[in-house]
Amino acid sequence: MIITEQHIDPVLMPILDQVSDPEIPVLSIMEMGVVRSAIIANNIVKVQITPTYSGCPAMDVIGDDIKAALKFAGYQSEIELILSPAWTTDWITPKGRKALEDYGIAAPLDAKADKEALLGNKKLVKCTNCGSLSTHLVSQFGSTACKALFKCDECQEPFDYFKCLK
Ligand SMILES: [Zn+2]
Repeated sequence: MIITEQHIDPVLMPILDQVSDPEIPVLSIMEMGVVRSAIIANNIVKVQITPTYSGCPAMDVIGDDIKAALKFAGYQSEIELILSPAWTTDWITPKGRKALEDYGIAAPLDAKADKEALLGNKKLVKCTNCGSLSTHLVSQFGSTACKALFKCDECQEPFDYFKCLK
């Protein structure tokens, strides 16, 4: 288990919680667990974020969105990208996972299971429509580069899977 400490100034919490993940508008960046720290020093907010998926184009957008939200609340800010330790799906809050599924995106598995699911070796990804595990990978790339497209063998519905391949 990776131990990661989050240092978020409670004052900044509600502001950051308003910033949604550009990939998944129903999720805030706090629920996705991408914010490692946010502290105020000399009236400047320093925010450290960790990308959910290396090379994810959404990360630039998240940085800009955080800056905009903080500016709106009256803060100058600096965004720093932290690549180590790497983001893990364990950082998604239970509320975040629920929101993902409600939104019709299968929540990511852990990294090892993720690989097996994407290589098609095992039936691990649950259909967001009917809950069946009889699903198969249609494309490594779904609606965005960070998602893979799956299709359910039971109800025939296609759905996105939020992958966590590094
Ligand atoms: Zn289904």
